[in-house]
Amino acid sequence: MDTLKFAVLPGDGIGPEVMEVALAVLERAAESEGLRLEPSEADAGGIAIDRHGSALPQETLDLCARSDAILFGSVGGPKWENLPPKEQPERAALLPLRKHFSLFANIRPGLLYPELVDASPLKKERIPEGIDLVCIRELTGGIYFGQPKATRDLPDGDREAIDTMVYRRSEVERITEVAIATARGRKNRICSVDKANVLETSVLWRQTVTDYLAAKAPEIELSHMYVDNAAMQLARDPNQFDVILTENMFGDILSDEMAVVCGSLGMLSSASLGTGSNRHGHRFGLYEPAGGTAPDIAGRNLANPCAQVLSAAMMLRFSFGLDPLADRIEAAVRKTVTSGTRTGDIAFGAQSVGTREMGEAIIKNL
Ligand code: NAD
Repeated sequence: MDTLKFAVLPGDGIGPEVMEVALAVLERAAESEGLRLEPSEADAGGIAIDRHGSALPQETLDLCARSDAILFGSVGGPKWENLPPKEQPERAALLPLRKHFSLFANIRPGLLYPELVDASPLKKERIPEGIDLVCIRELTGGIYFGQPKATRDLPDGDREAIDTMVYRRSEVERITEVAIATARGRKNRICSVDKANVLETSVLWRQTVTDYLAAKAPEIELSHMYVDNAAMQLARDPNQFDVILTENMFGDILSDEMAVVCGSLGMLSSASLGTGSNRHGHRFGLYEPAGGTAPDIAGRNLANPCAQVLSAAMMLRFSFGLDPLADRIEAAVRKTVTSGTRTGDIAFGAQSVGTREMGEAIIKNL
């Protein structure tokens, strides 16, 4: 493989700023390995509404379909907040992308380097070695997509809304497979999070995960936890977890809690993997930072680009099978932020530099 062909959707707010850094880092890293990048940029989110009248124009979708992966920034902002909910950039761009490409597996590392423990709201004594876990969230099923989904007026004058939570065994099995692969590269431990004491879908989830691991990966240590307890445990002792495996809505909430506990939104990356494989025989996927468009700091060279750079590294790993190159980029980010060059939301006590300067420092450390 010599050409890496991927779609670039920078989006809104800080998206374009941090994307510029990620592309520069990718370019330099790829060059050193004799690889050629073929990024193709398209509009998504608020900027696409302004330019094309739709948060996810057909040409953007077509470009993504012709690519081997999608590197995504973030979308949304105050300018579009008054649109009807269905037309809001996040809902009208990200959700259809997930659905269209069957991006069923969201992998979000919760990583806090020991040198940055001050960034966490947790007491230092609780996380002397930093934090290192991964949340695997099912992304295309559950209550966000289940039908019926409606709001209606009732004959008695009242009004009701309904969301439906549905899971099939096959959906649970394929996300469990991703958790197994992740756990095998780590400490061989999975904690499956559900609400099996009240939800039918959770009973099926728990049984399926248990059966699947017994059949396919008996060497992995499996535990189960109710979601309310998991939320408490994450805030108490995050390192008791290695791999958290959970359904869509619980994962949405827990992975944001994990981000807070890890101290900085600007450091956390994510991958959303699809069912299909790309031209290189690896998984098609969408890679994006955990944070949003940060309108409060957009356009001021203040955003932390690390999450976008680390998302690009995940793309190299999962969609192009370039693990050593991904390792190099991750090591360069780590070296940069732990050697005193920090930015924006993690600048405490260190030399604070701008977004672009941070990118230059990462490139120097490659
Ligand atoms: P946000 O993540 O944009 O910002 C929350 C806080 O974290 C802000 O103070 C921001 O400055 C800071 N922050 C976030 N990323 C940062 C970075 N890389 N460097 C430094 N600081 C950073 O969340 P929000 O304020 O709730 O949302 C703002 C907009 O982003 C909204 O329109 C929301 O819909 C959208 N959003 C988009 C996505 C996405 O595209 N996936 C995700 C979340 C929010």
